Amino acid sequence: MKNRILFPSAAVSLLGCLVAYLLLADVGVYAQRERIAGPSVKQTASVMKVERNSSAFSSAASENARLRNSLSWTFGGKTQTGWNIYVPLIAHTIGVDASPDSPEFALALSVWQTNNGLAETGILDSTTLSTFTKYWQSRRLGRSGLSSDANLHSAPIGEFYDPTRSPDLLQLEDDTYTAYKKMIAAATKDLKNELKLTSTGELAPEEKFLRIVSAYRSPEYQAALRKREPHAGRAALAKNSPHSTGHALDIYVGGEPVKTLDSNRMIQVQTPAYKWLVKNAHKFGFYPYFYEPWHWEYVPSRK
Ligand SMILES: [Zn+2]
Repeated sequence: MKNRILFPSAAVSLLGCLVAYLLLADVGVYAQRERIAGPSVKQTASVMKVERNSSAFSSAASENARLRNSLSWTFGGKTQTGWNIYVPLIAHTIGVDASPDSPEFALALSVWQTNNGLAETGILDSTTLSTFTKYWQSRRLGRSGLSSDANLHSAPIGEFYDPTRSPDLLQLEDDTYTAYKKMIAAATKDLKNELKLTSTGELAPEEKFLRIVSAYRSPEYQAALRKREPHAGRAALAKNSPHSTGHALDIYVGGEPVKTLDSNRMIQVQTPAYKWLVKNAHKFGFYPYFYEPWHWEYVPSRK
């Protein structure tokens, strides 16, 4: 008698559980589908690319190995050859840590090309290079002259590359100086095996890397510089220099401090100091002028 009552009620509750489970499971499935629907559609292209063997990009890689030393392009009124000098910047921009001759580099480049409305060839041709330079230039200050709220500050001569620099050439904008000091503190921590440091972890007095080569330049001083080097070219000594904002710094990254010769820039872009700046300066509000490895501009609004 007991069993006869128990059995149907057990069956009913079992059935109830089953229905509830199916309902919940169903809701769960739909909820999950709802949740991933958006991103999964957006990611389809890049996911497919990652799944595609990167060896599909081996012919693009060999084309890049050729172009990095030979691509002819124009900048600042001068014919330029190859893009070797810009490899650290390019690699940082496309988010890859692989050789520019590798299929992995070409694969990452193809993703960047897609995201920037270019044909996803994985080949760094002149169209792609000019898209890179436009992007980097768009991250810069884009102005000259002192803004009304800019406060200039004289930094200690010890912060400068040249210990005999004239006292009237040590100025830079207040916030730029604070950000520079923070950046150098982080750099010395990360590069403690590469730089000469004091016992308290600061740049040693004899260490030249990461020192300020040039900071604020008055329009008068800039005009005098241009007179001294009339053939420096458009890219080298601009009439409306970002240095007149007090937000631009030339930082020592190796070689001749501010010489645009390809051979000199090639030395600079391989130093630990430059490579560190490429990867980290933006965290402190500094953005590069791609053509001059030493030139960095403080644009905190970019963050
Ligand atoms: Zn500069």
